[in-house]
Amino acid sequence: MNGAGRRALIASRRGGIIPIREQGTSENNVTNQGDIGPGSLQPVTIPRPEHAISRASISSSALKVLYRLKEAGFQSFLVGGGVRDLLLGREPKDFDVGTDATPDEVRALFRNCRLIGRRFRLAHVRYGRDVIEVATFRARHDDEDGEGSRAHSDDGRILRDNVYGSLEDDVWRRDFTVNALYYDISDFSVVDYVGGLDDLKTGTLRLIGDPEQRYREDPVRMLRAVRFAAKLGFLIHPDSEAAIHELGHLLNDIPPARLFEEIMKLFLGGCAVGTFELLRHYNLFRYLFPMTDEALSHEEQGFPITFVLRALENTDLRLAEDKPVTPAFLYAALLWEPARLRANELLEEGASPVEAMQIAGNQLSSEQTQATSLPKRFSMPMREIWNLQPRFERKRGKAPYRLLEHPRFRAAYDFLLLRAEVGEAPAELARWWTDFQTLNEAERDRMVDPAPKKRRRRPRRRRPATQTDG
Ligand code: ATP
Ligand code: MG
Repeated sequence: MNGAGRRALIASRRGGIIPIREQGTSENNVTNQGDIGPGSLQPVTIPRPEHAISRASISSSALKVLYRLKEAGFQSFLVGGGVRDLLLGREPKDFDVGTDATPDEVRALFRNCRLIGRRFRLAHVRYGRDVIEVATFRARHDDEDGEGSRAHSDDGRILRDNVYGSLEDDVWRRDFTVNALYYDISDFSVVDYVGGLDDLKTGTLRLIGDPEQRYREDPVRMLRAVRFAAKLGFLIHPDSEAAIHELGHLLNDIPPARLFEEIMKLFLGGCAVGTFELLRHYNLFRYLFPMTDEALSHEEQGFPITFVLRALENTDLRLAEDKPVTPAFLYAALLWEPARLRANELLEEGASPVEAMQIAGNQLSSEQTQATSLPKRFSMPMREIWNLQPRFERKRGKAPYRLLEHPRFRAAYDFLLLRAEVGEAPAELARWWTDFQTLNEAERDRMVDPAPKKRRRRPRRRRPATQTDG
């Protein structure tokens, strides 16, 4: 019986079918091995009848790309999270393709193709709203990358990763073993070089290679570890975990724009609560939201932390119900505590509530962009959500009607509800606004206090011109 034939099929804990090695066959078994690298293992190939990936569960766009590459004579594999999720019986978020075709060769094959990325050049093939990411196999490389410029920074960070190689090379540059499984479209088999199938079975996230070196090459891998752990319910392998406690500070060197992208995946991927808790556990949250981390550190139990958790819970719930979520609301919630504290300081210094909120919002928003970027299209509505908060307290005259008409009213009102839920804003105020929206005009008019009568100034009597004038 060949290696593949010795494997049994079991149902994973999530309902997918994962082939595993039979107990007692120690060859290739790397479950307890912390450090694996090129040449350390023979690949294991699992033929189609022995794994659960069916073409029916791969998107038609991904299949088109896979087949077109294959028909053009290139190697063509489904890779990364798509393979991982299908083996776990989960629906993949997107599909990534690996090939030995160079980016230019990929572009020549697809009209609907764009090459992107400098640090890591790859092809995006678009079918309607579906984008398939096609990456050419990479090899590890020495510090000269052929263009005469350095591929690593002084502290080991990969600056460029564009030296092409074979599938066997490509395996080792991937982050986690469970992300390094390849589904071959030419015979529908799954190829595993790194023990990824065993780790899928035991629910283990294990970096390929030496953890410290791999985090130094790309510190964002620490955030990815947390993201996958929260999303898949996996445990980070102790070796991969230990290094995170030491190396979090390397995130300071990551460009703010890349951190913004990563934050979107961390908090808008449907598992924001678990992700937030793990980020705090590994002390990584402070590199993403330093001001929030500082503000929360004074208040471990009180409403500020409950507020963030409730906001993230809501976000997860909305995503589960296919409702839209916006980064503006997310950032407004995550930065609310430091914004609120800053506004309070300004109030004490004599600013009006509206003024204090506006100034605090501007300051917070610009200080946050030193850690992670926040595109204007999100920071503007974020500040509007904040700016409307003190305006909810004005319930007289025309003010509530004007607020109701504000384009950001709905988001700001939802924000007020959250604040009230955790006891940071008065519950009566939230109720008042809930009623105010649902009642008819006459009833509304009764709710609103009349505007204070403007005191009429008595017209000043002109002083008669004195003799000396003129
Ligand atoms: P998901 O798409 O569900 O978020 P994914 O594993 O597919 O998860 P992607 O960001 O789409 O993640 O990346 C696709 C694959 O590319 C990964 O599975 C991994 O093999 C590889 N990869 C992505 N980012 C890195 C990285 N920073 N370092 C090493 N390998 C990476
Ligand atoms: Mg993916």
